[in-house]
Amino acid sequence: MQDQREQLLYISQQLVSFGLNRGTSGNVSVRTHNEAGQSGFLITPSGLPVDKMSPADIVWMDFAGHPTGSRQPSSEWRFHLDILKHKPDVNAVIHTHSMFASTLSTFRRDMPAFHYMIALAGGDSIRCAPYALFGSQQLSDYAVLALQDRKACLLANHGMIAVGETLEKAFNITVEVETLCEQYLRALQVAEPYILTEQEMLEVQEKFKSYGAWSEK
Ligand code: 13P
Ligand code: ZN
Repeated sequence: MQDQREQLLYISQQLVSFGLNRGTSGNVSVRTHNEAGQSGFLITPSGLPVDKMSPADIVWMDFAGHPTGSRQPSSEWRFHLDILKHKPDVNAVIHTHSMFASTLSTFRRDMPAFHYMIALAGGDSIRCAPYALFGSQQLSDYAVLALQDRKACLLANHGMIAVGETLEKAFNITVEVETLCEQYLRALQVAEPYILTEQEMLEVQEKFKSYGAWSEK
């Protein structure tokens, strides 16, 4: 579990280095067992800037929502828990307040297939979950719905969530979704972009099945 604490911290630091999170914004979790073999997850502590965080500050939590550790778990532990519970193939959850995802989320609308890379998030759109107070069960319920058959979603007036089989894969999705949000916002400044058809997006998804590191094989 020590290794996973270090990995979690490393990914949290990478999010800051890539400009995807600042200060205490955002949080990260990874599925794991505790020393007694009980299933749960590690999650970043609440309100602690990443540059002040050490592996020991990371909190372990079981699926009943009971934390173990010297710190408070992230205020968003509910959606981390619910996503890991609802998605057995997902082992890592990343939440950011990255610039472009957060800006786009203020329009409260789904991002359509204006670029084929949208398929990376698992479909032909990236949904925007309705607004709810940070840390609330309502926000968690909305996030779980928006992530149905998807690896990423926006949270209205807030930011984004990306998930993956591993922390590294969830990180890669985060970077790609942030890029898509920037491209979409820039496109919208000129005009409404053309949207790929359902058929075109099905072809992309088919092709992704055998494409590099994104392949699920
Ligand atoms: P935490 O510091 O509690 O993880 O909160 C940050 C955040 O992004 C809340 O939505
Ligand atoms: Zn947040």
